[in-house]
Amino acid sequence: MLRIKNLKCYYGRIMAVKGVSLSVQQGELISLIGANGAGKSTLLGAVCGILPNWRGEIWFENKLLKGLDPPGIVKKGISLVPEGRLIFPPMNVMDNLKLGAYTMYRQKRYKEIARDMDMVINLFPILKQRASQPAGTLSGGEQQMLAIGRALMARPRLLALDEPSMGLAPLMVEKILETLVLLKQQGLTILLVEQNAQAALKIADRGYVLETGKMVLQGPASELLSDTEVKRAYLGKD
Ligand code: ATP
Repeated sequence: MLRIKNLKCYYGRIMAVKGVSLSVQQGELISLIGANGAGKSTLLGAVCGILPNWRGEIWFENKLLKGLDPPGIVKKGISLVPEGRLIFPPMNVMDNLKLGAYTMYRQKRYKEIARDMDMVINLFPILKQRASQPAGTLSGGEQQMLAIGRALMARPRLLALDEPSMGLAPLMVEKILETLVLLKQQGLTILLVEQNAQAALKIADRGYVLETGKMVLQGPASELLSDTEVKRAYLGKD
């Protein structure tokens, strides 16, 4: 579904991602792990049209993605849940969700939007209770649910998430990851970027390990979880 070949990403003349390849098959949940600064967000930025300065090939559903801006990428079927959630704090929860359906509003597809809203609220019932509250008053976990809900409102076929567990209490991390498993069971394809390697690999089909801009390991998530090097470097185990 998504195929990245020899991706190189630049900030000015500095290469932050140095020739990386990765693939995500339809229906898979793939975790991309790596330490702070490894280049994970940069890679997502290239896929989602946020970072224009990259070389290599990014294929999605057998089409080359090149020269598309973020709304163009959303139209192709990829939604991003950005690092730090980036919800709009003064706007209420419902309006934040509606923003995810921006393209569909322009096409006046109101019935479908209402159905999608119901689906998101079924997934995260707390968002209904908070519907008219400013999003900035939600807890960190609720804001993460809102960010995921907003991304789903765009009807993605591939959902990309940048560190959804960041800053959340362990129980909330569990809840968010359980939701991703549920979404996968419903047929959604997921690319999960995480520093929390243990949690991310536990729910993934396959994993990739990025280190200072290079892919150093890849394989079935269960194998990575028991890999000595991964254990030492990312799971805090000897
Ligand atoms: P994090 O978990 O901190 O988000 P990451 O794995 O996502 O880490 P990136 O944020 O992609 O890593 O950063 C990769 C490299 O690119 C780092 O060396 C970082 O300093 C550099 N970098 C990131 N953003 C910029 C920028 N806007 N300008 C210059 N260098 C940048």
